[in-house]
Amino acid sequence: MRFVELAAFYERLEATTKRLEMRKILVELIDAVGREELAEVLYLSQGLLRPEYEGVELGMAESLATKAVAAATNAEEPAVVDRRQRSGDLGLTAAELITALPAAPERGALLARDVYATLTEIAHASGEGSQEVKVGLFADLLRRCTPAEAKFAVRFAIGTLRLGVRELTILDALTQKYGGGTKEARLRIEAAFNLSSDLGLVAETLAKDGLEGLTRIQLQVGRPIRPMLAERATSLADILERMEGEAALEYKYDGLRVQAHVPVDGPVKLFSRRLEDLSAQFPELVAALPEAISRKPAIVEGECVAIDADTDQIRPFQDISRRRGRKYDLERMQEEIPVCLYLFDVLLDDDVATVDEPFPDRRRRLVSLVRGGERVRVATQSIVKDVDAAQLFLDAAIAEGGEGVMAKSVATGSAYRAGARGFWWIKYKRDYTQRLGDSIDGVIVGAFHGRGRRGGRYGALLLAVYDAQNDRFESFTKVGSGFDDATLEEIPKRLASLELSERPKGVESGLEPDRWIQPRLVIEVRGAELTLSPIHRAGFEAIRPGAGLALRFPRFTGVWRDDKAATNATTSAELLTMYRSQVKHAEEPSDDSAS
Ligand code: ATP
Repeated sequence: MRFVELAAFYERLEATTKRLEMRKILVELIDAVGREELAEVLYLSQGLLRPEYEGVELGMAESLATKAVAAATNAEEPAVVDRRQRSGDLGLTAAELITALPAAPERGALLARDVYATLTEIAHASGEGSQEVKVGLFADLLRRCTPAEAKFAVRFAIGTLRLGVRELTILDALTQKYGGGTKEARLRIEAAFNLSSDLGLVAETLAKDGLEGLTRIQLQVGRPIRPMLAERATSLADILERMEGEAALEYKYDGLRVQAHVPVDGPVKLFSRRLEDLSAQFPELVAALPEAISRKPAIVEGECVAIDADTDQIRPFQDISRRRGRKYDLERMQEEIPVCLYLFDVLLDDDVATVDEPFPDRRRRLVSLVRGGERVRVATQSIVKDVDAAQLFLDAAIAEGGEGVMAKSVATGSAYRAGARGFWWIKYKRDYTQRLGDSIDGVIVGAFHGRGRRGGRYGALLLAVYDAQNDRFESFTKVGSGFDDATLEEIPKRLASLELSERPKGVESGLEPDRWIQPRLVIEVRGAELTLSPIHRAGFEAIRPGAGLALRFPRFTGVWRDDKAATNATTSAELLTMYRSQVKHAEEPSDDSAS
């Protein structure tokens, strides 16, 4: 496919916010693209070069791209910077500059494949002199671009391509194209994606062999599976009822979820909840796992928590979060904040995929698989059949540093449901007994200037939940409390590259912040209760016409959920469940009146 054609599709995608329309355009795009380049084109459309878990970053700072634009358009760098400041988008600036140049025959002949290859070369350039190499490669590419092509190439290079094409919409389009849009096809396609976390692979397989080909996509060491997620319940009795009188309760460790891939030989790989590669951040786990796991290859899952080296007690989440994302000073950090991985599931055992086995079988495997030791242990579990036993277990979990319990179904159908949230797993935190005990993970979509002591900085943030059904972000609160000085300093730094002058696509709110923010960052907040509000859009009109859900008296807990992508934030559906259970609670007699 010629890159001009792809750019024309991008123009159309950019111009719409409607998911159905996007799906239609994507189906046309898939039709137009050759089978061999389908995966590449789909990655590109999401602003990626490879599936997200591979962590391939283009690594082109805007300053470098500016140099390339200047070189390719015979402009002076300061002039490019100046124009960029006025247009607000280096992509547009590049397009304008190329429009002003005399027509050149080489423009418009680029293939999408050439662009992909050059961008990949840029991404892999490293070491001394690599910056010049990147600028050179990118300038050469831009010399062959039409204005429209340059606009998208630049946005891609600096990571600002925002077509609003998300995984769900691509899955829809693939279902439409290869499965006649049926529900059954959708489930099969989604299952293949959940197992492989690679949309390009799924699309390529479909293009080659149709739905039948998907059976070839199996669990593989080194390629993460999308994690199974838990629902909430309002009480231990509720949990037991939902699990038909019997549940496996486990300590709910408050740390970072880790999916560990342990090959027969070769390096262990660790993936986060959002499937980023964490291996470099936890070298002690990478070193300990081959010894701790007795049958390989294996894929196991657990929670990594900080441990007090003297007492072996579990430390609070704040400690482990200091290890996250850290690339330097690792040795000192390993000493200062030692960690332990509490394993709670096994997905591949001795090269046998175990995801379809009932949970009790997987647990038995896990127990026999793990040799245990200082760094790797098995999560504490107990099978309970009544509320008293459950309460005792919950008390023990909390006393030992857990934040609550995870209840897991032991029924015959209790397979590992990759990528799905359901009542097979139920999370129950201690503070559910308060009015609104659970925290909410909100996506920052806007920021408000501070006043008084906070003058010159941001004083409050507009937060949204994710509406998975419609693939959009809906505001539910404006939070200004809980920010200490360090956080107030940190906010503008984190927001700098995400600020926008207009409301980003897929963000809904009745409030107009001073700055809109590209939905990327997730923070944890708590509040007094959920109420109905005409200005917020979370779960809009699900309870009452004209009203969405809002969090009253919100407070930042101090936790940046860097382990979550925006689409992993609390969802509108979850917020609705929380609202409904809160209403139900309020209608029940309180503990005082019951006694
Ligand atoms: P979610 O993962 O459900 O979107 P979240 O990341 O905010 O939400 P929580 O609501 O605290 O996390 O609870 C779910 C998480 O609890 C799991 O993703 C996992 O990281 C963690 N966890 C701790 N102990 C266990 C356990 N024994 N079994 C399963 N998960 C556990």
